[in-house]
Formats: sequence, structure tokens, C-alpha cells
Amino acid sequence: MFIEPNRRREPPHLRTGWIEVICGSMFSGKTEELIRRLNRARIAKLNVQIFKPALDTRYHEENIVSHSALTIRSTPVQSADQIPDLAGNCDVVGIDEAQFFDKDITNVCNILANQGQRVIVAGLDMDFSGKPFGCMPQLMSIAEYVTKVHAICVVCGDIAHYSYRLVPSQSRVLLGETDSYEARCRRCFHLGDHAGPKEWAYEDVKNEE
Ligand SMILES: [Zn+2]
Repeated sequence: MFIEPNRRREPPHLRTGWIEVICGSMFSGKTEELIRRLNRARIAKLNVQIFKPALDTRYHEENIVSHSALTIRSTPVQSADQIPDLAGNCDVVGIDEAQFFDKDITNVCNILANQGQRVIVAGLDMDFSGKPFGCMPQLMSIAEYVTKVHAICVVCGDIAHYSYRLVPSQSRVLLGETDSYEARCRRCFHLGDHAGPKEWAYEDVKNEE
């Protein structure tokens, strides 16, 4: 359970900043968790700004949209180095889909936190092949707080932390996720096409023998 640190009400230069990372597979509720933290800060009248890479335009140009359709206004940016100027003096900076940003994102998050801002970064920790995605490993290293959120394996119902791709593309970036991916546990991810009810039924029979 993530316990949110307090944000003191002082100008950013008089307080310390920090970095929080929220990561997991698709359908794990990363963006929902990001929105939840940002909304709580907004309710406390803290100044909040949200950014996302301009390439993520799945649902709406201007909004971060989580899959439960809870929305929050965000600014699409072409590159990570645009964020410090745009974020200005705000108290809390949210960054969604961080895995798609260039490697400057690590430096940018440090700059923001070093000048007293709370930075909350959400992103996919692994790509469809199970490899660490973009700068997420670096962001997890420099963050004060890392939260891994999990989905449920659609094949067996265990905890899932892989995004299994259902379509035969080798491109790392493939948007339109509800149709193209499903969340899978470690076992069902590696079973690939062989994972499924049949295989489980067979195992149950074997175990009973
Ligand atoms: Zn499974």
C-alpha cells in the first residue's frame, strides 16, 4: 500500500521535491492511480500540471484518459525537455505514458524534483516482449517511491504483470490496446498461444490421475 508523503505549503524553492513512479502492465490501473493522486492534490488546492507524449492520441488529444474513463486535462508534448518550461512553478507534475518519452525524461524528472516539485510518473514497465520499456528502469532507480500495480491474467485469473500482444507485429509501439493486448501472468505469458482453458483442463485431469 502506497502511503502518500505530505506536501508542505511553501513555495517550491523552500521545500524538497521527490519522484514517484507508478508502473505495471496494460490494464493494471496505472493511469487511474496517477489520476487519483493528482486529483487528491488538486482537492488540496495544489497547483497540478499533467503531460504526456504527443504520440499517445488513442482517445483524446488533450486529456489523459484512463480505461475507466476517468479523465483529467493534460498537455501533449513532443519531447521531454519541453516539460520544465511548461510546468513552471506548479506544485505537482504528472507524467503519463512515460515509457514513450526520450531519454531526457530522467534528467527532466530530476530537475523538477530538485527544484522542489512533486513528480508523479506513470508508465509501462515492460514492452510486449517482456523487456524493460524505454527509460522506465532509470526512472525507477532515481525515484523515491515506486509502486507496481497489477492486472489480472485473462487466461487463468492470477496476478498479471505482462502485456501479451495478440496481433503479429514486432513494432514496439502499437496503440489501440484493448484489441491488441491482454494482461497475462508470467506463466500464461510464456505459454503464448498454448495458454488457455484447454491446457488448464488437461492439467487438471493429469493432477487427478
Ligand atoms: Zn495466467
